[in-house]
Amino acid sequence: MNNIQSENNFDVMRFREDFPILKTKISGKDLIYFDNAATTQKPQQVIDSLVDYYSNTNSNIHRAAHHLAEKATSEYEGAREKIAKYIGATRPEEIVFVRGTSEAINLVARTFGDSFIGKGDEIILSEMEHHSNIIPWQMLASRRGATLKYISVKSDGSLDMEEYERLLNKRTKLVSLTYVSNALGTINPVREIIGKAHSVGAKILLDSAQAVAHIPIDVKELDVDFLAFSGHKMYAPTGIGVLYGKYELLDEMPPFMGGGEMIKNVTLQGSTFNQLPFKFEAGTPNIAGAIGLASAIDYINSIGLENMAAYEMGLLDYLYAKALEINGLELYCKHENRAGVLPFKLGNAHPSDVGAFLDAKGIAIRTGHHCAQPLMEKFCVPGMARASICFYNTKDEVDIFISALSRINEMLK
Ligand code: PLP
Repeated sequence: MNNIQSENNFDVMRFREDFPILKTKISGKDLIYFDNAATTQKPQQVIDSLVDYYSNTNSNIHRAAHHLAEKATSEYEGAREKIAKYIGATRPEEIVFVRGTSEAINLVARTFGDSFIGKGDEIILSEMEHHSNIIPWQMLASRRGATLKYISVKSDGSLDMEEYERLLNKRTKLVSLTYVSNALGTINPVREIIGKAHSVGAKILLDSAQAVAHIPIDVKELDVDFLAFSGHKMYAPTGIGVLYGKYELLDEMPPFMGGGEMIKNVTLQGSTFNQLPFKFEAGTPNIAGAIGLASAIDYINSIGLENMAAYEMGLLDYLYAKALEINGLELYCKHENRAGVLPFKLGNAHPSDVGAFLDAKGIAIRTGHHCAQPLMEKFCVPGMARASICFYNTKDEVDIFISALSRINEMLK
């Protein structure tokens, strides 16, 4: 992997230097990390921001009247402002820090859902959702007597948009869909989806876990009501994520969890609650995580998300083209509106055997149900093999991966 790969001035070899883990050897081989949809690796700049925070700033935020507390507060709130800008939110109060996408969706289900969705109301999801965007709604539906409807996934891996239109009606209170499928890589037509949801008066939540590091997002321009994402899928630490909500919506929602920070006044008889966004941030938050997420955004901005995305699209096309040359390899995503992911089946090989063979060659992919069991059922498979790339992966790595797959294919004959 020594030859310089500079595609359209995108100096991938230079960016790779920012990621210490990419120098790891696995079984004596250079690590090829193709499991970016599960979590991305972290650049030194993000790692340094955590070390710096704990070395020079660590303090609890908002309440104490001392220098370090003020510094920690200003970095934490600065992170909120940076994230608001990154996704085009109108104001930082629309950014609620959570642990990740799962918590963000649970927050909306427990607060917006419990307050505004009741018996006879309908929620539209799809068959390609991650369990994080199914279970909270199933729990809500059983608490509140609402009905869940699912948009089918077509055999090419895209959403059945005609069915979506048929499912929408005036009882639809919420549409909650993934922007990019973690299992298939499908990029859903979110503008159309949002417009149609609003035309029947429904609110829309976009699970953007797989989109936020690969597609520029402007929540105002999209006119999306809620957006959820996880820091760890965009080069930031684990345990930090974001719920974006339109101010008016968040404002009318009750709190999620109770505790310190989310209150205005507490008496033994009852309490009043803090303003946005603190109403939703009970207890000491993940201060270092938020600062690490801000650092990841600085890192992305230093390269340019558009540049990263263009490079990734080119690399994914290359990966698809090479994979299709392998006899007996079947792809689950058969359309071109895709990002980051190659979901595949190799002959009759069990996906976990393919994963184990590749691991022995230093190649990390993911196999199994990808937290999308209904989708596996739809495709009548127990699991899929998934290679997921990002901007620090290279054509050389794709070539090594493809030749390892060809080798497995030979062995299967
Ligand atoms: N939604 C999608 C599309 C995902 O890919 C994931 C994680 O893989 C999640 C939700 C859950 O994210 P987290 O585990 O960070 O809460």
